[in-house]
Amino acid sequence: MNVLVINSGSSSCKYRLLDMATETLLCSGLAERIGDPSSGCLVHETFKDGKERKVRREHPFPTHVAAMEEIIALLTDPEVGVIADRGEIGAIGHRVVHGGVEVTEPVLVDEKVKDIIRRRSVLSPLHNPANLKGIEVAEELFPGTPNVAVFDTEFGTGMPEEAYMYALPYDCYEELGVRRYGSHGTSHKYVAWATAKYLGKPLAELDSITMHLGNGSSMTCVRNGKCLDSSMGLGTVEGLVMGTRCGSIDPSIIPFLMEKKGLSTAEVSELMYKRSGMLGICGHTDMRDIHALIAAGDRKASLALKLYVRSIRKMLGAYFFLLGGRPDAIVFTAGIGTNDAITRAAVCEGLEPLGLVLDPAANDTRTSGPRTISTKDSRVPILVIPTNEELQIAMAAVQILGKAS
Ligand code: AMP
Repeated sequence: MNVLVINSGSSSCKYRLLDMATETLLCSGLAERIGDPSSGCLVHETFKDGKERKVRREHPFPTHVAAMEEIIALLTDPEVGVIADRGEIGAIGHRVVHGGVEVTEPVLVDEKVKDIIRRRSVLSPLHNPANLKGIEVAEELFPGTPNVAVFDTEFGTGMPEEAYMYALPYDCYEELGVRRYGSHGTSHKYVAWATAKYLGKPLAELDSITMHLGNGSSMTCVRNGKCLDSSMGLGTVEGLVMGTRCGSIDPSIIPFLMEKKGLSTAEVSELMYKRSGMLGICGHTDMRDIHALIAAGDRKASLALKLYVRSIRKMLGAYFFLLGGRPDAIVFTAGIGTNDAITRAAVCEGLEPLGLVLDPAANDTRTSGPRTISTKDSRVPILVIPTNEELQIAMAAVQILGKAS
C-alpha cells in the first residue's frame, strides 16, 4: 500500500509518498509560501528506481487546495510521476501536533477527531489549525481515501503521573486537562525505536535521552522504551529555547508583561511562540545564520547560542539523574541535532567525568544514517540518529488499516 504523509503548516505543506510494502520512499516535497499572492514555491523530489530527480515549480499557490492539486499533478505526471493516478494512494497519514488526553494512539479521522483537533488548537495555536486544514484538503481531493491522524502528543501520554502533573490546584487537571503532554512525540517515538535497533537492544529495555533539536526543540527521557519525561508541557513552548519560542521562563513574567505592556492573552501567546527564542535574542532563527553571525563577532547571536545550549545541558543533567546516571545512549536528532557539530560539541563539553566522551573527528564527519560520535571508551554512547516522522506516521497508518499491501 502507498501512504501519502502530509505535514501541513500554516503556509506550507510537506509531504512524502511511501510504498509500505517495501518501506521505500517514492517521493517527497515541500510547497511553501501558500497564500502569498506574489510568489510560491514547490520542490518535488522523486526516488523512483534508485534515481533521484528534482522538479521545481515557482508560482503563487493561493490556497492549500491549489498547492495540493499541483502536488497530485506531479505525483501522477507521465514524466516525473511515481503513480498512475491518485487511486493508488491507499491511505493518507497526517501529522497533528496536539491531541490532548482524548487520543492516546493514531486514529482514523472522523468528525469527532476533527473536533478534538479544533478544540486543542488552543494548546497549539501555531500548528493544530494548519494540521486540520491539511486533513480537510485531503478529504476534498482524495474522496474515499482513509485519513489517519498521528498525534505528536501520543508518546507523552504514557508518562507517569509524577512527570505529567503540574503542582497546580488539582481541578485544573480534572476540569481542563492541564498537564504535560510532551510534543514532538512522533519523532521521539521513532528515535527511541531506531536507537534500540542501532544498539541491538529490545525497545522495552532501552533507557535513553533524546535531544530533538530543530526549529522546534524538545527532549525526552526514555525508560524501558517508554516516555519517562518530556521537556514539552501543555502546549509547545515549555522546555528548551527554540527558534522563535522562549522555552521555560518564570511564569510570573506572563502576567507582568500582560499588565505592563497591556497585552491580551493572544498577544502574549504570540510573543512567546513567535517572537521569542533565538529570534527574540538575535533576530535570527536558522542556526547556520547564527553561526555566521557569531563568526562575524555578533554578541547577540553568541548569546542566543549560549542560551540554547544551556537549556539543553540543564535538561540533559536532569534526565541523566532520572536514569540514575546510566542511560544506554544520549541521542541527537532533527535539523540541528543531525547537522550541527558545533552545537553538539557545546552540549557535550566537559561531560567526560559523567562518561560522555565526544570524538571530535566523528562529530565533524557528516553521514546520512545513524552513527556514533563518542569515543570507544565513552561509557555512554553519544549517537546521531536522523528522525523519520513520516515513516513513523506511515507505519501507524498501515497498522490502523490492517493491510500492508
Ligand atoms: P528542523 O526543524 O528539524 O527541520 O530543523 C531546522 C533547523 O535545522 C534549521 O532552522 C537550522 O537551524 C538547522 N540546520 C539545518 N541544517 C543545518 C546545518 N547544516 N548546520 C546547522 N544547522 C542546521
